[in-house]
Amino acid sequence: MKDFCILTTVGVKFKTRVSGAELSSFKSGGTVPLVFFPETAGQVIRLFKVLKNTPVKYRILGGGTNTLIGDKGFDGIIVCLKDFKNCAVKGKIMETDAGTAMPRLAYAAAQEGLSGFEFASGIPGSVGGGVYMNAGAYGEDIAGVILYADVYDIRKDEIIRFKKEELKLSYRRSRFSGGDGNELILRAAFELKEGDIDSVKEKMRRFKKKRADNQPKEPSLGSTFRRFEEVIPAVLIDKAGLKGYNIGGACVSAKHAGFIVNIGNAKSSDYAAVMNRVKEIVSNKYGVELTPEIELL
Ligand SMILES: Cc1cc2nc3c(=O)[nH]c(=O)nc-3n(C[C@H](O)[C@H](O)[C@H](O)COP(=O)(O)OP(=O)(O)OC[C@H]3O[C@@H](n4cnc5c(N)ncnc54)[C@H](O)[C@@H]3O)c2cc1C
Repeated sequence: MKDFCILTTVGVKFKTRVSGAELSSFKSGGTVPLVFFPETAGQVIRLFKVLKNTPVKYRILGGGTNTLIGDKGFDGIIVCLKDFKNCAVKGKIMETDAGTAMPRLAYAAAQEGLSGFEFASGIPGSVGGGVYMNAGAYGEDIAGVILYADVYDIRKDEIIRFKKEELKLSYRRSRFSGGDGNELILRAAFELKEGDIDSVKEKMRRFKKKRADNQPKEPSLGSTFRRFEEVIPAVLIDKAGLKGYNIGGACVSAKHAGFIVNIGNAKSSDYAAVMNRVKEIVSNKYGVELTPEIELL
């Protein structure tokens, strides 16, 4: 508690007793005692310089669209980057803070007539989360457009620029996946192509329609399980007759079997129970072990 008090004097905006539903787009999860919302790289660094000298546990969160917060909340602090969101366009290069929402960046690019980021216009997370996950859609991904990311090494207290190759981006993975959380993506730069405003916007409209036609509207875990090789989890889940299967407020979407949706006050444990049952049934029926795409906190 004393450490929490010290942290609140650092000069970074914070909120106490924040519900998981406020932090995660899955709209579930228990209370987090203290959440910081830095707005600049200077604030991020100031906070971590103090934080790393305390025993307080921390987690970094962007848009919270790939993170399931447990029903018991989290007994440390969360540093949520959603208000850290300046972006600048210079010629064909877009450089942006990590908290910028990917759809917002896609629309900013479109306004400049820049093409290449349209795929991200419907991915609900932040740029930091997008780099972390090498987010992608419709055959394109962050790896296809990123130039570099500036990363704050919390332990060494220094900012390092990683070029695209050094980010080790592969299908929904990066050098940050499964790491110890000591590397915080501060900003990223993307190189786009000159295009025509109308055709860039038209491509985004097409992607938006595809999503609206195929994906559920309710809050959901997104594509809950990882695709691998030839395995498309949604196809197996559908074949197993699991569309509409629910526990508590969490349910396999009737529209798209790859999504587990919140049909009303789902607890994180409901989501987890549906995921586990789906995994078990698919494993028993088809001998395929599904791996969750989402992260648990
Ligand atoms: C309805 C829906 C649709 C989706 N569609 C797609 C899709 O089409 N394609 C796709 O790829 N994904 C999709 N997703 C998944 C999700 O949006 C992406 O994985 C996104 O990149 C996650 O970003 P985020 O900021 O929300 O990450 P968070 O959930 O906030 O964090 C995810 C991980 O990244 C880490 N992280 C976040 N920011 C930083 C940072 N700045 N520095 C270091 N680590 C950081 C967190 O610690 C955590 O480990 C979808 C999700 C939903 C709910």
